Amino acid sequence: MKVVCRFRPLNDFEKQSGDNIDFLIQNNQVKIRTNKKNEQDYNFSFDYAFGIDTEQKEVFEVVARPVIEGVFEGWNGTILAYGQTSSGKTFTMQGAMMNERLKGIVPRIVQAIFEHIEDSPEHIEFMVKVSLLEVYMEEVRDLLNPNSKKKVSIRESPTEGLYIENLSEVCVADSLEVETVIASGNNSRKIGRTNMNAVSSRSHMVTLVNIMQTNTMENNVKRGKLYLVDLAGSERVAKTGATGDTFNEGKLINQSLLSLGSVINALTEGNPFIPYRNSKLTRILQESLGGNSRTTLIVTCSPSRYNESETISTLQFGVRAKLIKNKARVNEELSREQLIINLEKANAKVIMLESHVEFLEDHIRKNLKSEVPAFKSASKSDKHDVSALTDAGSKFDPELM
Ligand code: ADP
Repeated sequence: MKVVCRFRPLNDFEKQSGDNIDFLIQNNQVKIRTNKKNEQDYNFSFDYAFGIDTEQKEVFEVVARPVIEGVFEGWNGTILAYGQTSSGKTFTMQGAMMNERLKGIVPRIVQAIFEHIEDSPEHIEFMVKVSLLEVYMEEVRDLLNPNSKKKVSIRESPTEGLYIENLSEVCVADSLEVETVIASGNNSRKIGRTNMNAVSSRSHMVTLVNIMQTNTMENNVKRGKLYLVDLAGSERVAKTGATGDTFNEGKLINQSLLSLGSVINALTEGNPFIPYRNSKLTRILQESLGGNSRTTLIVTCSPSRYNESETISTLQFGVRAKLIKNKARVNEELSREQLIINLEKANAKVIMLESHVEFLEDHIRKNLKSEVPAFKSASKSDKHDVSALTDAGSKFDPELM
């Protein structure tokens, strides 16, 4: 999993108190010196580290551009924002939707999707569908149909992988339509007030974009799923000063994030049992966490001394998640004609390699006067049989992201 971190600037309130963390960002490393006695300096290493002056455009180009390009090649992609409340998750993911400079990853991705479609040849047909959901107190809510009586549940099918039953999907034809859909979804979000942030998001928000491309000339279909996730604040409940409902809510939200932590730990420790089913959030993100997805986690941090311990634990969470290896593959269904062409290419390559092996064996025997060790090969019929290519459409990415 690719992990980047981003520090936001001090806000006005923090500027007044003037006490910021002693941190340095250099070569994608974050060094923190705490003012606590007997505590060592911290050193965190990421795929990319963004300082307080980073523009939204740069974050998009580094983090999201490769993900969206992958989705058009048929990979699934996920971008997750993790951090305490008011550390900049929503600013990074959504930002000011209509402001050219301040808009975040989601509106920029939407724009990039439709630019790509415009630039594509006529024989590629696209279908883009958007869904919006929120996980709030361990319940999944369909934000495009918040009053629906149908239970939204997470299911798995051998062909489609993980999917969400009864979740509304809207077919969209341009950026404006997506922005309208997202704005209406945002209005349906549950929001509460705590003194961490005047209007703080207490739910996990997922924007799901499904892109299907049909190549009418080659007769194949590629599907890419994109999950864009703005997680609820990761802070400890005590610090929010919340009581009553908001306190219970905080506990449940943290329970869900706790499950996220357990899943990450299990994945990085090579544990055979991964507790995806312990929370709705981890179930929805099952493919994104160690599965069929190229996933990038953005950990967002506050530079204020008041938030120092949260910032350190956020960075520790990011470093841990970086150890996860996903098993991403292209979701492509090839036509029979294309499978035959691929098979012919593979056979030609086998013949070329076989003659090269023969040449090398001769060289070993004649020039090096050595025995060639015996090699047990798979039966030849396996190599040339079309029926053995039922899974030929799935190309595994050996470079596990
Ligand atoms: P979160 O979603 O983590 O609760 P927000 O994204 O709402 O936090 O950010 C809290 C405040 O800080 C907002 O007013 C936001 O505009 C501001 N902010 C966050 N990140 C940045 C940034 N990188 N640059 C400028 N302002 C930021």
